[in-house]
Amino acid sequence: MARLVLKFGGTSVGTIDRIKNVARKVKQEVDAGHEVAVVVSAMSGVTNQLVDYVKQVSRLADEREYDAVVASGEQVTSGLLAIALQEIGIPARSWQGWQIPLITDDVHGKARIERIESGDLVARMSTGEVAVVAGFQGVSKDGRIATLGRGGSDTSAVALAAAVQAERCDIYTDVDGVYTTDPRIVTKARKLGRITYEEMLEMASLGAKVLQTRSVEMAMKHRVRVQVLSTFEEAAGSALPGTLVVDEDEIVEQELVSGIAYSRDEAKVTLVGVEDRPGVAAAIFGPLTDAAINVDMIVQNVSEDGTTTDMTFTVTKADLDRTVQVLEGARDDLKFRRLIADSNVVKVSVIGVGMRSHAGVAQRMFKALADRGINIQVISTSEIKVSVLIAEEYTELALRALHTAYGLDQA
Ligand code: ADP
Ligand code: ASP
Ligand code: MG
Repeated sequence: MARLVLKFGGTSVGTIDRIKNVARKVKQEVDAGHEVAVVVSAMSGVTNQLVDYVKQVSRLADEREYDAVVASGEQVTSGLLAIALQEIGIPARSWQGWQIPLITDDVHGKARIERIESGDLVARMSTGEVAVVAGFQGVSKDGRIATLGRGGSDTSAVALAAAVQAERCDIYTDVDGVYTTDPRIVTKARKLGRITYEEMLEMASLGAKVLQTRSVEMAMKHRVRVQVLSTFEEAAGSALPGTLVVDEDEIVEQELVSGIAYSRDEAKVTLVGVEDRPGVAAAIFGPLTDAAINVDMIVQNVSEDGTTTDMTFTVTKADLDRTVQVLEGARDDLKFRRLIADSNVVKVSVIGVGMRSHAGVAQRMFKALADRGINIQVISTSEIKVSVLIAEEYTELALRALHTAYGLDQA
Protein backbone atom coordinates (compact mmCIF):
# COMPACT_ATOMS: atom_id res chain seq x y z
CA MET A 1 0.00 0.00 0.00
CA ALA A 2 1.28 3.40 -0.95
CA ARG A 3 0.18 6.97 -0.57
CA LEU A 4 -0.23 8.60 -3.98
CA VAL A 5 -1.03 12.06 -5.27
CA LEU A 6 -2.70 12.09 -8.70
CA LYS A 7 -3.17 15.34 -10.58
CA PHE A 8 -5.58 15.79 -13.47
CA GLY A 9 -5.27 18.81 -15.75
CA GLY A 10 -7.94 20.88 -17.49
CA THR A 11 -8.47 18.67 -20.55
CA SER A 12 -8.62 15.56 -18.37
CA VAL A 13 -11.61 17.02 -16.48
CA GLY A 14 -12.93 19.03 -19.43
CA THR A 15 -16.41 17.45 -19.60
CA ILE A 16 -18.71 15.57 -17.22
CA ASP A 17 -17.87 12.30 -19.00
CA ARG A 18 -14.18 12.99 -18.53
CA ILE A 19 -14.70 13.68 -14.82
CA LYS A 20 -16.46 10.31 -14.58
CA ASN A 21 -13.49 8.74 -16.41
CA VAL A 22 -11.11 10.31 -13.87
CA ALA A 23 -13.25 8.89 -11.05
CA ARG A 24 -12.81 5.41 -12.56
CA LYS A 25 -9.04 5.88 -12.70
CA VAL A 26 -8.95 7.00 -9.09
CA LYS A 27 -11.06 3.98 -8.14
CA GLN A 28 -8.44 1.67 -9.70
CA GLU A 29 -5.79 3.07 -7.37
CA VAL A 30 -8.11 2.85 -4.35
CA ASP A 31 -9.02 -0.75 -5.26
CA ALA A 32 -5.30 -1.53 -5.44
CA GLY A 33 -5.15 -0.55 -1.77
CA HIS A 34 -3.57 2.90 -2.06
CA GLU A 35 -4.32 6.02 -0.06
CA VAL A 36 -5.14 8.65 -2.64
CA ALA A 37 -5.24 12.42 -2.84
CA VAL A 38 -6.34 13.87 -6.18
CA VAL A 39 -5.55 17.39 -7.29
CA VAL A 40 -7.75 18.85 -10.01
CA SER A 41 -7.56 21.80 -12.38
CA ALA A 42 -10.50 23.78 -13.65
CA MET A 43 -12.31 22.33 -16.68
CA SER A 44 -10.35 23.33 -19.80
CA GLY A 45 -11.07 26.86 -20.96
CA VAL A 46 -12.70 27.88 -17.68
CA THR A 47 -9.71 29.71 -16.17
CA ASN A 48 -9.17 31.62 -19.43
CA GLN A 49 -12.82 32.63 -19.40
CA LEU A 50 -12.58 33.81 -15.79
CA VAL A 51 -9.40 35.79 -16.49
CA ASP A 52 -11.17 37.37 -19.45
CA TYR A 53 -14.14 38.39 -17.28
CA VAL A 54 -11.77 40.15 -14.91
CA LYS A 55 -10.05 41.94 -17.81
CA GLN A 56 -13.37 43.13 -19.16
CA VAL A 57 -14.05 44.85 -15.85
CA SER A 58 -10.55 46.21 -15.30
CA ARG A 59 -7.21 45.79 -17.04
CA LEU A 60 -5.39 46.47 -13.78
CA ALA A 61 -7.67 44.68 -11.34
CA ASP A 62 -7.05 44.32 -7.59
CA GLU A 63 -5.15 41.04 -7.56
CA ARG A 64 -6.94 39.73 -4.47
CA GLU A 65 -10.23 40.00 -6.30
CA TYR A 66 -8.68 38.50 -9.45
CA ASP A 67 -7.79 35.50 -7.26
CA ALA A 68 -11.30 35.31 -5.79
CA VAL A 69 -12.65 35.02 -9.33
CA VAL A 70 -10.15 32.72 -11.04
CA ALA A 71 -9.85 30.22 -8.15
CA SER A 72 -13.52 29.33 -8.59
CA GLY A 73 -12.91 26.98 -11.55
CA GLU A 74 -11.07 24.46 -9.39
CA GLN A 75 -13.78 24.66 -6.70
CA VAL A 76 -16.29 23.37 -9.24
CA THR A 77 -14.18 20.43 -10.46
CA SER A 78 -13.18 19.32 -6.97
CA GLY A 79 -16.82 19.13 -5.94
CA LEU A 80 -17.87 17.37 -9.15
CA LEU A 81 -15.12 14.76 -8.88
CA ALA A 82 -15.95 14.08 -5.22
CA ILE A 83 -19.58 13.49 -6.24
CA ALA A 84 -18.52 11.28 -9.18
CA LEU A 85 -16.41 9.18 -6.78
CA GLN A 86 -19.24 8.86 -4.28
CA GLU A 87 -21.51 7.74 -7.14
CA ILE A 88 -19.24 4.75 -7.80
CA GLY A 89 -18.99 3.86 -4.14
CA ILE A 90 -15.72 5.57 -3.23
CA PRO A 91 -15.82 7.78 -0.13
CA ALA A 92 -14.48 11.20 -1.08
CA ARG A 93 -14.63 14.85 -0.10
CA SER A 94 -13.45 18.06 -1.69
CA TRP A 95 -10.88 20.37 -0.10
CA GLN A 96 -10.45 24.01 -1.06
CA GLY A 97 -7.06 25.57 -0.43
CA TRP A 98 -8.27 27.42 2.67
CA GLN A 99 -9.82 24.28 4.12
CA ILE A 100 -6.61 22.24 4.15
CA PRO A 101 -5.13 24.91 4.76
CA LEU A 102 -2.48 25.46 2.10
CA ILE A 103 -0.84 28.69 3.17
CA THR A 104 0.79 31.06 0.69
CA ASP A 105 2.58 34.39 0.71
CA ASP A 106 0.55 37.44 -0.27
CA VAL A 107 1.79 37.90 -3.84
CA HIS A 108 -1.69 37.44 -5.27
CA GLY A 109 -1.94 36.08 -8.79
CA LYS A 110 1.36 34.21 -8.47
CA ALA A 111 1.54 33.30 -4.80
CA ARG A 112 4.14 30.90 -3.44
CA ILE A 113 3.23 28.06 -1.12
CA GLU A 114 4.74 28.58 2.33
CA ARG A 115 3.38 25.51 4.08
CA ILE A 116 0.64 22.93 4.00
CA GLU A 117 -0.99 21.94 7.27
CA SER A 118 -2.01 18.53 6.05
CA GLY A 119 -2.81 16.81 9.36
CA ASP A 120 -6.62 16.75 8.95
CA LEU A 121 -6.39 15.73 5.33
CA VAL A 122 -4.02 12.85 6.06
CA ALA A 123 -6.21 11.68 8.93
CA ARG A 124 -9.22 11.53 6.60
CA MET A 125 -7.20 9.79 3.89
CA SER A 126 -6.10 7.10 6.33
CA THR A 127 -9.76 6.19 6.88
CA GLY A 128 -9.97 5.36 3.17
CA GLU A 129 -11.50 8.64 2.07
CA VAL A 130 -10.16 10.13 -1.15
CA ALA A 131 -9.13 13.76 -0.75
CA VAL A 132 -10.12 15.76 -3.82
CA VAL A 133 -8.08 18.94 -3.66
CA ALA A 134 -8.80 22.08 -5.66
CA GLY A 135 -5.49 22.85 -7.36
CA PHE A 136 -4.06 26.29 -8.14
CA GLN A 137 -5.22 27.85 -4.88
CA GLY A 138 -4.37 28.47 -1.27
CA VAL A 139 -5.00 31.04 1.39
CA SER A 140 -2.66 33.94 2.02
CA LYS A 141 -1.55 34.84 5.51
CA ASP A 142 -4.08 37.66 5.57
CA GLY A 143 -6.85 35.15 4.99
CA ARG A 144 -7.56 35.88 1.33
CA ILE A 145 -7.83 33.28 -1.46
CA ALA A 146 -4.59 33.24 -3.42
CA THR A 147 -3.75 31.57 -6.74
CA LEU A 148 -0.38 30.11 -7.69
CA GLY A 149 0.08 31.43 -11.23
CA ARG A 150 -1.15 29.85 -14.45
CA GLY A 151 -0.58 26.11 -14.55
CA GLY A 152 -0.33 26.16 -10.75
CA SER A 153 -2.22 22.94 -10.11
CA ASP A 154 0.98 21.05 -10.90
CA THR A 155 2.61 22.88 -8.01
CA SER A 156 -0.34 22.17 -5.72
CA ALA A 157 0.10 18.48 -6.52
CA VAL A 158 3.86 18.28 -5.99
CA ALA A 159 3.69 20.37 -2.81
CA LEU A 160 0.95 18.14 -1.46
CA ALA A 161 2.96 15.03 -2.38
CA ALA A 162 5.91 16.44 -0.41
CA ALA A 163 3.69 17.40 2.54
CA VAL A 164 2.00 14.01 2.85
CA GLN A 165 5.19 12.14 1.93
CA ALA A 166 3.60 10.44 -1.01
CA GLU A 167 5.45 7.70 -2.79
CA ARG A 168 4.82 9.35 -6.17
CA CYS A 169 3.12 12.28 -7.78
CA ASP A 170 1.43 11.32 -11.05
CA ILE A 171 0.65 14.23 -13.33
CA TYR A 172 -2.06 13.05 -15.71
CA THR A 173 -2.44 15.22 -18.78
CA ASP A 174 -3.35 15.23 -22.46
CA VAL A 175 0.04 13.99 -23.68
CA ASP A 176 1.69 10.73 -22.63
CA GLY A 177 4.89 12.27 -21.29
CA VAL A 178 7.52 14.94 -21.71
CA TYR A 179 8.74 15.21 -25.30
CA THR A 180 11.87 16.70 -26.88
CA THR A 181 9.61 19.62 -27.79
CA ASP A 182 5.90 20.37 -27.88
CA PRO A 183 4.48 17.37 -29.79
CA ARG A 184 1.51 19.49 -30.89
CA ILE A 185 3.82 21.64 -32.99
CA VAL A 186 6.61 19.29 -34.03
CA THR A 187 5.15 15.94 -35.06
CA LYS A 188 8.64 14.42 -35.09
CA ALA A 189 9.10 15.16 -31.36
CA ARG A 190 10.26 12.15 -29.33
CA LYS A 191 8.95 11.06 -25.93
CA LEU A 192 11.59 10.99 -23.20
CA GLY A 193 11.52 8.04 -20.82
CA ARG A 194 13.38 10.07 -18.22
CA ILE A 195 14.43 13.68 -17.85
CA THR A 196 16.60 15.24 -15.14
CA TYR A 197 15.09 17.67 -12.62
CA GLU A 198 17.49 20.29 -13.89
CA GLU A 199 16.55 19.94 -17.54
CA MET A 200 12.86 19.76 -16.70
CA LEU A 201 13.25 22.92 -14.67
CA GLU A 202 14.78 24.73 -17.64
CA MET A 203 12.23 23.29 -20.08
CA ALA A 204 9.38 24.41 -17.83
CA SER A 205 10.74 27.84 -17.06
CA LEU A 206 11.43 28.38 -20.75
CA GLY A 207 7.84 27.64 -21.69
CA ALA A 208 7.15 23.88 -21.92
CA LYS A 209 3.91 24.18 -20.03
CA VAL A 210 3.58 20.43 -19.46
CA LEU A 211 4.76 21.16 -15.87
CA GLN A 212 4.66 24.48 -14.06
CA THR A 213 8.17 25.66 -13.18
CA ARG A 214 7.56 25.86 -9.47
CA SER A 215 6.31 22.29 -9.40
CA VAL A 216 9.68 21.15 -10.72
CA GLU A 217 11.56 23.35 -8.22
CA MET A 218 9.48 21.85 -5.47
CA ALA A 219 10.03 18.29 -6.72
CA MET A 220 13.77 18.87 -6.92
CA LYS A 221 13.96 20.35 -3.44
CA HIS A 222 11.87 17.70 -1.71
CA ARG A 223 12.93 14.82 -3.98
CA VAL A 224 9.38 14.03 -5.04
CA ARG A 225 9.14 11.34 -7.73
CA VAL A 226 7.12 12.96 -10.49
CA GLN A 227 5.69 11.05 -13.41
CA VAL A 228 3.96 12.70 -16.39
CA LEU A 229 1.46 10.43 -18.13
CA SER A 230 -1.68 10.40 -20.25
CA THR A 231 -5.22 10.39 -18.91
CA PHE A 232 -6.54 9.13 -22.19
CA GLU A 233 -4.20 6.45 -23.48
CA GLU A 234 -4.27 3.20 -21.62
CA ALA A 235 -2.53 -0.15 -21.97
CA ALA A 236 -4.67 -3.05 -20.70
CA GLY A 237 -6.35 -1.12 -17.93
CA SER A 238 -3.42 0.86 -16.63
CA ALA A 239 -1.87 4.08 -17.88
CA LEU A 240 0.95 3.85 -20.42
CA PRO A 241 4.34 4.50 -18.85
CA GLY A 242 5.03 8.19 -19.01
CA THR A 243 8.13 10.25 -18.33
CA LEU A 244 9.89 10.11 -14.98
CA VAL A 245 11.66 13.18 -13.67
CA VAL A 246 14.88 11.93 -12.06
CA ASP A 247 18.34 12.80 -10.76
CA GLU A 248 21.13 13.26 -13.30
CA ASP A 249 22.94 10.10 -12.24
CA GLU A 250 19.89 8.02 -13.14
CA ILE A 251 20.38 8.88 -16.81
CA VAL A 252 22.99 6.83 -18.59
CA GLU A 253 23.35 8.45 -21.98
CA GLN A 254 23.21 12.20 -22.11
CA GLU A 255 22.22 14.02 -25.30
CA LEU A 256 23.90 17.29 -26.20
CA VAL A 257 20.51 18.99 -26.44
CA SER A 258 17.63 17.15 -24.82
CA GLY A 259 14.83 19.57 -25.47
CA ILE A 260 13.57 22.68 -27.18
CA ALA A 261 11.05 24.97 -25.53
CA TYR A 262 9.20 28.09 -26.59
CA SER A 263 7.25 30.72 -24.78
CA ARG A 264 4.71 32.98 -26.42
CA ASP A 265 4.24 34.53 -23.04
CA GLU A 266 7.00 37.10 -23.48
CA ALA A 267 6.68 40.75 -24.42
CA LYS A 268 9.54 43.03 -25.37
CA VAL A 269 9.99 46.49 -23.94
CA THR A 270 12.52 48.97 -25.29
CA LEU A 271 13.39 52.21 -23.59
CA VAL A 272 14.91 54.46 -26.22
CA GLY A 273 17.33 57.17 -25.20
CA VAL A 274 17.83 56.51 -21.48
CA GLU A 275 20.73 58.26 -19.81
CA ASP A 276 23.95 56.24 -19.95
CA ARG A 277 25.12 56.67 -16.36
CA PRO A 278 25.94 54.46 -13.39
CA GLY A 279 22.77 53.39 -11.64
CA VAL A 280 20.45 53.57 -14.62
CA ALA A 281 19.76 49.82 -14.67
CA ALA A 282 18.94 49.92 -10.97
CA ALA A 283 16.66 52.91 -11.57
CA ILE A 284 14.75 51.04 -14.30
CA PHE A 285 14.49 47.63 -12.70
CA GLY A 286 14.02 48.75 -9.10
CA PRO A 287 10.46 49.99 -9.57
CA LEU A 288 9.62 46.84 -11.56
CA THR A 289 10.91 44.63 -8.76
CA ASP A 290 8.86 46.65 -6.26
CA ALA A 291 5.81 45.94 -8.39
CA ALA A 292 6.66 42.17 -8.34
CA ILE A 293 7.28 42.19 -12.11
CA ASN A 294 9.89 39.67 -13.22
CA VAL A 295 12.23 40.76 -15.95
CA ASP A 296 13.72 38.02 -18.09
CA MET A 297 16.10 38.78 -20.98
CA ILE A 298 17.96 42.08 -20.86
CA VAL A 299 20.19 43.85 -23.40
CA GLN A 300 21.69 47.26 -23.01
CA ASN A 301 23.14 48.72 -26.17
CA VAL A 302 26.54 50.35 -26.25
CA SER A 303 26.01 54.07 -26.16
CA GLU A 304 26.72 55.75 -29.50
CA ASP A 305 27.26 59.22 -28.14
CA GLY A 306 28.33 58.42 -24.58
CA THR A 307 25.27 60.13 -23.07
CA THR A 308 22.25 58.00 -23.93
CA THR A 309 21.59 54.35 -24.65
CA ASP A 310 18.70 51.94 -25.37
CA MET A 311 17.63 49.27 -22.92
CA THR A 312 15.62 46.26 -24.13
CA PHE A 313 14.14 43.61 -21.88
CA THR A 314 11.29 41.13 -21.71
CA VAL A 315 8.47 40.61 -19.21
CA THR A 316 5.49 38.27 -19.37
CA LYS A 317 2.61 39.40 -21.58
CA ALA A 318 0.42 39.45 -18.47
CA ASP A 319 2.74 41.99 -16.86
CA LEU A 320 3.11 44.23 -19.92
CA ASP A 321 0.38 46.76 -19.08
CA ARG A 322 1.67 47.15 -15.53
CA THR A 323 5.26 47.43 -16.75
CA VAL A 324 4.34 50.29 -19.06
CA GLN A 325 2.39 51.94 -16.25
CA VAL A 326 5.31 51.65 -13.81
CA LEU A 327 7.88 52.94 -16.31
CA GLU A 328 5.70 55.86 -17.42
CA GLY A 329 5.31 56.68 -13.71
CA ALA A 330 9.10 56.83 -13.35
CA ARG A 331 9.60 58.81 -16.58
CA ASP A 332 10.86 61.97 -14.84
CA ASP A 333 13.60 60.00 -13.16
CA LEU A 334 14.56 57.77 -16.11
CA LYS A 335 14.32 60.50 -18.77
CA PHE A 336 13.85 58.09 -21.67
CA ARG A 337 12.81 59.46 -25.07
CA ARG A 338 10.43 56.71 -26.09
CA LEU A 339 8.97 53.47 -24.76
CA ILE A 340 8.22 50.72 -27.30
CA ALA A 341 6.16 47.73 -26.20
CA ASP A 342 6.03 44.72 -28.56
CA SER A 343 4.09 41.57 -27.74
CA ASN A 344 4.60 39.99 -31.17
CA VAL A 345 7.58 37.95 -30.00
CA VAL A 346 8.38 34.40 -28.92
CA LYS A 347 11.32 33.06 -26.97
CA VAL A 348 12.80 29.83 -28.31
CA SER A 349 15.34 27.92 -26.20
CA VAL A 350 17.50 24.84 -26.58
CA ILE A 351 18.29 22.96 -23.37
CA GLY A 352 20.71 20.21 -22.41
CA VAL A 353 23.10 19.37 -19.59
CA GLY A 354 25.44 18.06 -22.31
CA MET A 355 26.12 21.71 -23.22
CA ARG A 356 28.37 22.08 -20.20
CA SER A 357 31.04 20.03 -21.88
CA HIS A 358 30.51 20.85 -25.57
CA ALA A 359 31.20 23.97 -27.61
CA GLY A 360 29.29 25.13 -30.69
CA VAL A 361 25.75 24.53 -29.44
CA ALA A 362 24.72 28.18 -29.77
CA GLN A 363 26.35 28.52 -33.17
CA ARG A 364 24.32 25.60 -34.51
CA MET A 365 21.18 27.39 -33.34
CA PHE A 366 22.13 30.72 -34.91
CA LYS A 367 22.97 29.04 -38.20
CA ALA A 368 19.76 26.99 -38.34
CA LEU A 369 17.72 30.16 -37.81
CA ALA A 370 19.80 32.19 -40.26
CA ASP A 371 19.32 29.51 -42.94
CA ARG A 372 15.55 30.06 -42.60
CA GLY A 373 15.89 33.85 -42.72
CA ILE A 374 14.76 34.25 -39.09
CA ASN A 375 16.09 37.37 -37.40
CA ILE A 376 17.27 37.09 -33.77
CA GLN A 377 16.28 40.10 -31.63
CA VAL A 378 17.74 39.20 -28.22
CA ILE A 379 20.00 36.35 -27.06
CA SER A 380 20.62 34.99 -23.58
CA THR A 381 22.57 31.97 -22.42
CA SER A 382 23.24 29.98 -19.28
CA GLU A 383 25.24 26.87 -18.54
CA ILE A 384 22.64 24.50 -19.95
CA LYS A 385 20.52 26.61 -22.30
CA VAL A 386 20.56 29.14 -25.14
CA SER A 387 17.51 31.35 -25.72
CA VAL A 388 16.65 33.69 -28.55
CA LEU A 389 13.80 36.12 -29.03
CA ILE A 390 12.28 36.10 -32.52
CA ALA A 391 9.08 37.34 -34.20
CA GLU A 392 6.12 35.22 -33.14
CA GLU A 393 5.11 34.19 -36.67
CA TYR A 394 8.29 32.11 -36.98
CA THR A 395 7.58 29.90 -33.93
CA GLU A 396 6.70 26.69 -35.78
CA LEU A 397 9.38 27.13 -38.44
CA ALA A 398 12.08 27.77 -35.83
CA LEU A 399 11.08 24.81 -33.64
CA ARG A 400 11.10 22.38 -36.55
CA ALA A 401 14.40 23.69 -37.90
CA LEU A 402 16.11 23.41 -34.51
CA HIS A 403 14.65 19.99 -33.76
CA THR A 404 16.21 18.73 -36.99
CA ALA A 405 19.47 20.65 -36.52
CA TYR A 406 20.14 18.99 -33.16
CA GLY A 407 19.30 15.51 -34.46
CA LEU A 408 16.22 15.11 -32.27
CA ASP A 409 13.75 14.07 -34.98
CA GLN A 410 12.05 10.73 -34.51
CA ALA A 411 13.29 8.17 -37.01
P1 ADP B 1 -2.88 20.24 -18.23
O1 ADP B 1 -4.15 20.96 -18.55
O2 ADP B 1 -3.05 18.77 -18.11
O3 ADP B 1 -2.15 20.84 -17.09
P2 ADP B 1 -1.17 21.61 -20.08
O4 ADP B 1 -1.86 22.12 -21.29
O5 ADP B 1 -0.85 22.58 -19.00
O6 ADP B 1 -1.97 20.38 -19.53
O7 ADP B 1 0.22 20.89 -20.49
C1 ADP B 1 0.19 19.87 -21.47
C2 ADP B 1 0.59 20.46 -22.81
O8 ADP B 1 1.95 20.87 -22.76
C3 ADP B 1 0.56 19.50 -23.97
O9 ADP B 1 -0.73 19.42 -24.53
C4 ADP B 1 1.59 20.06 -24.93
O10 ADP B 1 1.00 20.77 -25.99
C5 ADP B 1 2.37 21.04 -24.08
N1 ADP B 1 3.82 20.85 -24.15
C6 ADP B 1 4.71 21.84 -24.39
N2 ADP B 1 5.95 21.36 -24.43
C7 ADP B 1 5.87 20.03 -24.19
C8 ADP B 1 6.84 18.99 -24.11
N3 ADP B 1 8.14 19.22 -24.26
N4 ADP B 1 6.39 17.74 -23.86
C9 ADP B 1 5.08 17.49 -23.70
N5 ADP B 1 4.12 18.44 -23.78
C10 ADP B 1 4.50 19.70 -24.02
N1 ASP C 1 -6.66 26.24 -13.98
C1 ASP C 1 -5.38 26.91 -13.82
C2 ASP C 1 -4.86 27.39 -15.15
O1 ASP C 1 -5.49 27.19 -16.16
C3 ASP C 1 -4.39 26.06 -13.11
C4 ASP C 1 -3.99 24.79 -13.81
O2 ASP C 1 -4.70 24.32 -14.72
O3 ASP C 1 -2.94 24.23 -13.46
O4 ASP C 1 -3.85 28.04 -15.19
MG1 MG D 1 -0.93 22.56 -16.91
